[in-house]
Amino acid sequence: MLLEVKNISKEYTSGFLGRRKVRAAENISFSVEEGDFFGLIGESGSGKSTLTKMLLGISHSDSGSIIFDGKDITNLSNKKWMPLRSQIQGVFQHPQMTFNPKRTLYDSCTEPLRIFNICPKEKYPEYVRKMVEPFGIHFDQLKKYPHEVSGGQAQRISIARALFLNPKLLICDEPTSMLDVSVQAQVLRLLINANKERNVAIVFISHDIEVVKTLCKNVAVMEKGKIVEQGSVKDVLENPKHEYTKKLISSAIEI
Ligand code: ADP
Ligand code: MG
Repeated sequence: MLLEVKNISKEYTSGFLGRRKVRAAENISFSVEEGDFFGLIGESGSGKSTLTKMLLGISHSDSGSIIFDGKDITNLSNKKWMPLRSQIQGVFQHPQMTFNPKRTLYDSCTEPLRIFNICPKEKYPEYVRKMVEPFGIHFDQLKKYPHEVSGGQAQRISIARALFLNPKLLICDEPTSMLDVSVQAQVLRLLINANKERNVAIVFISHDIEVVKTLCKNVAVMEKGKIVEQGSVKDVLENPKHEYTKKLISSAIEI
């Protein structure tokens, strides 16, 4: 198994004197096989991004464990996460925010080359070109800053950069929800191709049940921080057992 999430929980404390508590993740368990296309679906506020952050080492869980490729990667320090960055990558909802707004897209694309010492500095342009061109991005567009390109272009660059070091796992947190409908399909196509051609496992987080139905092999349904149902897309979405899944499917819930 590539990824095993076991009983992960996370509570946020906020408000005056920390009196407001939100259980954003409660005993979450699921597994992702190598090369899987795994959907995680739930309405806004169900805890999807909280889970994303824990899977990417951006925030720590209160309890439970995350096993990646046989190694326990739960709550690692930033330094210990560094080597994993070539293996687990994220694609986020706001593509422009993935990049440092003060740096050109080219500079952001050289980051993995620098961190992992892929090649000498004079070879960077050649490598960056190789990184982005298969994703329909012209090298010259990288001279721009993140806010100077469209959301669709920024998302394609972020996917190109995420895949450049051939990760085994890509966590995509609502990667198309901020994009124009006209470019959503293009971005989804890139993810489908990456999964097929590179065998990268994808955790695809979405509130769009139709997209999950089309793309994913397995799915987990999240409600208020808990997974209420999981299994193959065929079983769960065509023959839902849980009331919440039934409601999602019949669109009784505004998501
Ligand atoms: P989703 O991505 O499914 O919309 P989130 O993981 O963003 O859900 O949020 C889950 C719950 O946790 C929500 O009730 C949200 O308000 C709360 N939450 C998220 N981040 C924080 C935070 N940093 N501090 C306090 N509460 C938070
Ligand atoms: Mg979210």
